[in-house]
Amino acid sequence: MSAQRLISIVIPVHNEAPNLKGLCERLIACSDKWKINYEIVFVDDGSTDGSTNLLRELAENHEEVSLLVLSRNFGQQPAVNAGLHYATGDGVVVMDADFQDPPEVIEELVEKWKAGYEVVYAIRKKRKEPLLTRFLYSIFYRLLNVISKINIPLDSGDFCLLDRAVVDVLNNQMPENTRFMRGLRAFAGFKQIGVEYERHERFAGSPSYNFNSLFKLALDGIFDFSTVPLRIMTLLGLFLSITSFGLGVFFIIHRVVDFKVLGYSPADVPGMASLIVSLFFIGGSIILMLGILGEYIGRIYFEVKRRPNYIVSEVVTNKNKS
Ligand code: UDP
Ligand code: MG
Repeated sequence: MSAQRLISIVIPVHNEAPNLKGLCERLIACSDKWKINYEIVFVDDGSTDGSTNLLRELAENHEEVSLLVLSRNFGQQPAVNAGLHYATGDGVVVMDADFQDPPEVIEELVEKWKAGYEVVYAIRKKRKEPLLTRFLYSIFYRLLNVISKINIPLDSGDFCLLDRAVVDVLNNQMPENTRFMRGLRAFAGFKQIGVEYERHERFAGSPSYNFNSLFKLALDGIFDFSTVPLRIMTLLGLFLSITSFGLGVFFIIHRVVDFKVLGYSPADVPGMASLIVSLFFIGGSIILMLGILGEYIGRIYFEVKRRPNYIVSEVVTNKNKS
């Protein structure tokens, strides 16, 4: 592998002021081990805590560092997407700014990449998060694997190294707006391998993700990669319609041969039979129709997302850089 090759490190940043300087120093300290040229691309995702100015300083003082400033807060996934478009490396590392993805792990990612893997993703060995969060995460990953056609590795996060070939596929062939990176990455294929690491608690600041945004990320993951939820609706509707038909038959038979179920006869309450049958029938067919509508809307939804999912307002690079 020639020394001319370049690796880009894309880091989305939303209000990470206390972490930035240390992160940059630690990255530069680690970089010797990679034995490859590198650039660090910070993507400032609408920070309001002064991160932007700190990053601007870093970009102006270090030749390897550049900065993309987004016009507002777009979210972590779009910020990563912006970084992937901007990065020029033959390999691109995506990592968080809060030290939860330790810069030291990059060495191992790079090794695997040099060994020929095109997607090297980091797998969290131990989650140091509250039990409930851990439980929800594990349910989410398992559910996603069951209902989507692609296999998203359990407990993989966004921390990974992507070969240029994969970045090009993500950038050029996956125009969809809702970007669930680990899903798209798995979808892309190529030679993939996981590397285990221990995920620490964030160093400083508070997570920008709260329960709501994690829930949204989980929904994006599920609905972007599966239409199974829609199918469940269709099947439920179908099931209820068939049940109503069965009930109808049951009541007709009951009319002919009067018998009791659990000591009770439907004929005891006038109108009960027809009421139950029609309730089931109407409910069932409405849900069935909703399911069918959902199938269409789901497909349209996949197609129409054409708005940019991030907007860059400023690019800062070191003046010495060509
Ligand atoms: N982030 C971002 N935009 C957002 C939220 C988060 O760019 O709207 C960045 C954040 O600065 C960090 C990474 O995405 O570098 C992961 O965010 P966080 O630590 O809040 O999430 P978690 O560690 O819980 O996945
Ligand atoms: Mg974090």
